[in-house]
Amino acid sequence: MIKKLLMLFTLPIMIVTLISCVSSTKYDVIATLYPQYDMARYISGDELSVKLILPYGMSPHDFEPTSNEMKIIEDASLILLTSYELEPWLVDVEHDNKADLEELIGTEYTDHDDHDGDDHDDHDGDDHDDHDGDDHDDHDSDDHDDHDGDDHDDHDGDDHDDHDGDDHDDHDGDDHDDHHHHDHADIHYWTRPDAMIAMVREVAEALAHISPENQDLFMARKEEYIEKINSFSDELNEFLHEYEDTNIKLFIAGHNAMGEFAEYYGFEIVSLYPDFIPDAELTSQELSNFIDLVKENNVLSLFLEPLFEAAPVATETISSSLASEGYTLEFLELSQFHNISASEASENMTLFDIYRNNIENIKRVIKSNYGER
Ligand SMILES: [Zn+2]
Repeated sequence: MIKKLLMLFTLPIMIVTLISCVSSTKYDVIATLYPQYDMARYISGDELSVKLILPYGMSPHDFEPTSNEMKIIEDASLILLTSYELEPWLVDVEHDNKADLEELIGTEYTDHDDHDGDDHDDHDGDDHDDHDGDDHDDHDSDDHDDHDGDDHDDHDGDDHDDHDGDDHDDHDGDDHDDHHHHDHADIHYWTRPDAMIAMVREVAEALAHISPENQDLFMARKEEYIEKINSFSDELNEFLHEYEDTNIKLFIAGHNAMGEFAEYYGFEIVSLYPDFIPDAELTSQELSNFIDLVKENNVLSLFLEPLFEAAPVATETISSSLASEGYTLEFLELSQFHNISASEASENMTLFDIYRNNIENIKRVIKSNYGER
C-alpha cells in the first residue's frame, strides 16, 4: 500500500524528469562501447558528464540508435567511437569531435592485414617489446621492476614466440586467408590489453581537448587507470608463467571476440561461433564440431558469454549432448568486454571488476583443465 502511494507521488515527478531528459539532456561525452565509457567516466570524474549510448545488456553488434539517441549523440561535445566497422551508423554523423579510437591508437594494434606469416613475428618482436619498454616500464619503474624483468619478458620471449611460431602460423596458413580472419578480427581490437591501454591514453587526450582546464587532473587519473590494467595483466602473466610448457586452449560457447586477447597472453581460444558476430547463424555442424573438440581436448571447464541470448541455448545443447555420454561440464562466464547488463550497471560494475572476474575465471578454467601448478 505504502509502495502504491509512493508510486502515485513519484510518478508525475518521473514523467516530468523523463520529458525533460528527452528534450534537454546534454552530455559532454558519448561513448559507444562499455570499455571507453568506463575509461571516460573514470578519467573525467565529476568534471564531465559521460553517457554510454549503447543500452545496458545490448550487443554492440545489434545496436542502432533511435532518433532520440541520435540527437543526444549529436549534441554531445565529444563522441568516443570504437570503429566505423562496428558502428557504421556514425559514418554520416557530422560532428566536430568524433574520436575514432581504432584510428587514433594506430595500426600497431589494429591493422593486421600485412601480418600473416612473416610480419607477424616482426610485429611481436618489435612492437611488443617497445610496448614493454615504453609504457610498461615507465609505469612500473617504482614497484614492479623485478617482476617485469623476470616474468614479463620471459613470457614474451618464450611463450609468445613459440606460440606464434607454431600455432599461429599454422592457423594463418589454413583458415586465415580463406575466411578473411583479419578483416573481422580487427573489429575486436580493444580486447588486447595493450590496445586497451592505448585507448585509455587517447580517451584522456580527447577529454583534455574538450576540457583543457582539467588536463592535469585527467592525466593523473589516466595513469591510475593504466596502472590498474597493467596490474591485472601482470597477475595473469604471472599465473600463465606456471603453464608456459603447456599449449593452453580455452573454449567459449560464444562468438569469436577474444582471439586478440588470447594471442597477447600466448594461449588459444576456441569459440563456438567461428564468426566474429554473435548473431551469426550457428549450424548443427559447427555445434557438433565444437562438442567434438571439447571431448578431444578433455575439457572439464569452459566459458560462456554473458549478455547474449544465443549463448544459454547453445550451452544447454552442449551440456545435454555431453551429459548423455556421462560427461559433465562446468561453465564459467568470460566477459568479452562488449557491455554489461542493466543489473550490473545498477551495482556500479566497472571495467576493473570485469578484469577481476575474467582473471579469476580464466585461472579456474585453466586449473580445472590442466591441473594446479
Ligand atoms: Zn563481438
